Amino acid sequence: MPIYDYECGHGHRFEALVPRWSSPHPACPACGTNTRRQPAAGARLTGTASLPPSSREAPTTWLGTHRGNREVVTHWRRALEQRTALEERYPELSAPRSPVVAHEGHYHHAPLTVDEVRATTGRTDGPPLPKADGAPA
Ligand SMILES: [Zn+2]
Repeated sequence: MPIYDYECGHGHRFEALVPRWSSPHPACPACGTNTRRQPAAGARLTGTASLPPSSREAPTTWLGTHRGNREVVTHWRRALEQRTALEERYPELSAPRSPVVAHEGHYHHAPLTVDEVRATTGRTDGPPLPKADGAPA
């Protein structure tokens, strides 16, 4: 099943898996009203400021991929390929590539990277960086 982007008259945007292009548009999950199909992420690449999602926005869990749903995985693989191609042309779009040292609790929505720790502590080398809870790595 393909995955499409939809928007209702109230501006709620969501993605939905539908059997085929000609399938009826799903009702808005937020308000239940009729929806319009939006251009796919790839189509939005040309002529607008919309960007494919970065690797930091991609699902990182089994449930995040709808239990490994092939269409969801393919959707993300294509989106990330488009993003990678864009990042090669426009390196300023690149997400930070330094390793993430904390991604739970306080850091759930803004993972802490090694570069950020080094920027705030001034450390550039030395023993392993401490974990978020202060325990040695
Ligand atoms: Zn709505």
